[in-house]
Amino acid sequence: MPDRLNPVRVLLPVNAGLGFDYALPDHILAVPGSYVIVPLGKRSVLGVVWGEASGEIPKERLRPVTVLCPDIPPMPEAMRRFIDWMAHYTFSSPGNVLKLCLGVPKAITSPPAEIRYQLLPLPEGLPMTPQRNRVMKLLKDTDSLIASEIMERTGAGKGVIDGLVSAGALIKTTITLAPTLPPPICTSPARLNTSQQQAADAIRQDTNGFCVTLLEGVTGSGKTEVYFDTIEQTLCADKQAIVLLPEIALTSQWVERFHRRFGFPPVLWHSSLSEAERKRTWRAVAHGAAPLVVGARSALFLPFPALGLIVVDEEHDGSYKQEDGVLYHARDMAVARGWHEDIPVILASATPSLETLANAERGKYRRVHLEARYGGASMPDIALIDMRREKIPSSEFLSTELRESLAATLERREQALLFLNRRGYAPLLLCRACGYRFACPSCTAWLVLHQKSDNTRNEQLATHHSQLQCHHCGYTQRAPKACPSCEAEDKFAACGPGVERIAAEAASLFPSARHMILASDTIKTPAQLHESIEAIAAGRVDIVIGTQLMAKGHHFPGLSLIGVIDGDLGLSGGDPRAIERTWQMLHQVSGRAGRGGIPGRVLIQTCQPEHPVMRALAGGDNERLLELELESRKAGGLPPFGRLAALIIEGRDEKMAETVARKLAAHAPRREDVRVLGPAPAPLYRLRGWFRWRLLVMTPRQADIQRYLREWLDAVEMPRLIKCKVDIDPMSFM
Ligand code: ADP
Ligand code: ZN
Repeated sequence: MPDRLNPVRVLLPVNAGLGFDYALPDHILAVPGSYVIVPLGKRSVLGVVWGEASGEIPKERLRPVTVLCPDIPPMPEAMRRFIDWMAHYTFSSPGNVLKLCLGVPKAITSPPAEIRYQLLPLPEGLPMTPQRNRVMKLLKDTDSLIASEIMERTGAGKGVIDGLVSAGALIKTTITLAPTLPPPICTSPARLNTSQQQAADAIRQDTNGFCVTLLEGVTGSGKTEVYFDTIEQTLCADKQAIVLLPEIALTSQWVERFHRRFGFPPVLWHSSLSEAERKRTWRAVAHGAAPLVVGARSALFLPFPALGLIVVDEEHDGSYKQEDGVLYHARDMAVARGWHEDIPVILASATPSLETLANAERGKYRRVHLEARYGGASMPDIALIDMRREKIPSSEFLSTELRESLAATLERREQALLFLNRRGYAPLLLCRACGYRFACPSCTAWLVLHQKSDNTRNEQLATHHSQLQCHHCGYTQRAPKACPSCEAEDKFAACGPGVERIAAEAASLFPSARHMILASDTIKTPAQLHESIEAIAAGRVDIVIGTQLMAKGHHFPGLSLIGVIDGDLGLSGGDPRAIERTWQMLHQVSGRAGRGGIPGRVLIQTCQPEHPVMRALAGGDNERLLELELESRKAGGLPPFGRLAALIIEGRDEKMAETVARKLAAHAPRREDVRVLGPAPAPLYRLRGWFRWRLLVMTPRQADIQRYLREWLDAVEMPRLIKCKVDIDPMSFM
């Protein structure tokens, strides 16, 4: 008897619609959430059975589901609902959100296998070499090993192993990796102090069901210890937990701490994992064999079958916002996933975002506060240096007071951090003869000068050893010897500092001090970062010159002085969160000082010492600053009191982009409670050769902004050559 075919809807990781109807043959035992392979055009695509068929295509014309992936547990219902919700909220297609969740489709379609090598009886007349000898000796004492391990332990190359296989001395076996059992927990908890214990108890109180807790406390107060307590409770109940950290920068110290505390290493999830690691991790999570995953925002989209807790550490951090593809804020999505899973969510920060503070004030989030640094460590003393009064030459950037403090710090054999959130040597290179400035050929941006060596610091730059880079699109060129405009030679001047230039200045002031630059382009891999962090923590570096990579989370016991080179950076420009962000960043970076028992000192160089942000940092009246900022947001109808959505219209054709942007604005439905601003050319008007226009939609908090946008955008036809991105809750205004 032929198979009966049942129509079902299958969601595919493609940018279209709500999924497609397929016919499910009777013999394929799929349920909602099952991973299946279906034909799409000429391809075979992995998808997830989503629910009932839409019925748009007659039953007899449906193409059949071809394969069921039987060894992966179906995607849990809560996760499927979360995907649907997130697609609606972020204004993307469910297929695109599913794509985030199927991070490594091969994890599902081709289970990870391992090729192992085993010794056979020695074939007669086998020519031996020292390397062959070592390999065979190693395998004599072990059962079987994988190639990389043999290579590592004997120094032999892959060719040696292959040679032994073809000579019949070794045999190769392929083993499909079964999911491993979750590791046993063996905890060695810290003894919490009173304030920490109260916080932990408060969180323990109702950890059944959805509940968001803001865990607030200055850097070093023990927030991590407190949420470790909640994690323990979760793991002991045989549930899984996710900890999100804003950047892999933070994970190395965290991982060690976790390992020591729980007796097994956490599973990592971030973009630098190899495909094999991703496959293994994805499957381990799906099978419930990974009790704790720590990672970047994408960890939120792993298929946990029994999720019990989500922690978002440094919840205020801007890097939680995903700025391409599906535009989402991982902190908000974490709360949403927690809601769909009906589990607790902890948001931890020393400087909570105003959005989170407002939710706490509205009573939507519970607020738990740690008052002081652990173990009596004091908060650093913060002072301002008025740069308008400095008499140093314009090519130098360390004020007299900062130099003196640096000297004294080095004298005491303590460490210093010079903080400047700008990579490279100088943000602009110009010709002093004609005023020519180097700009990116495809972006509205100056090219940033990067030096190969850091020993040049006079005006007369040896620029032809340097590179000019666009920090937006990655374009690079060598700095020429002659000006492309007036042909004058060696007349270039570097304007303003980046970390490389500060490093050069520090090196010439303190030639015997060991310095290290910590920025995302000098530190390229997690391993490199780990090494650098270790070196700093162990005191093998005297002066660190760092970008925001240094501002977060790390614990450096010997660090006692922090010099903020340009406190005003970030205060200018049209970002409505400029004040909040600058304050958070400077407060966080200040928190790196004085954690190891030595008192910390922070010097902030500024040209606006009377700016509220500077006054708050120096005077310690942070609450007042946040109150003022909240008031001004309220008055302006800005988040957290109003909602924003940005429309970004991009086109390669300048005229067309503008015309479409204007037409779109003209068609905005008129509503009393909705304001549409723009269109205006984006501050980054050209990016990678695209011309960009922006519109900003502002509504009250209660309004259904998605519905408004849907109505609007459905009514306007978008030319194929124009991209229109919708950014709900935008964080970037470039
Ligand atoms: P936060 O997450 O608030 O920045 P941490 O949890 O990292 O703070 O704690 C700061 C430092 O103090 C860490 O080195 C941590 O090991 C230590 N610490 C905090 N609480 C305790 C405790 N109860 N017992 C022992 N050490 C603690
Ligand atoms: Zn560019």
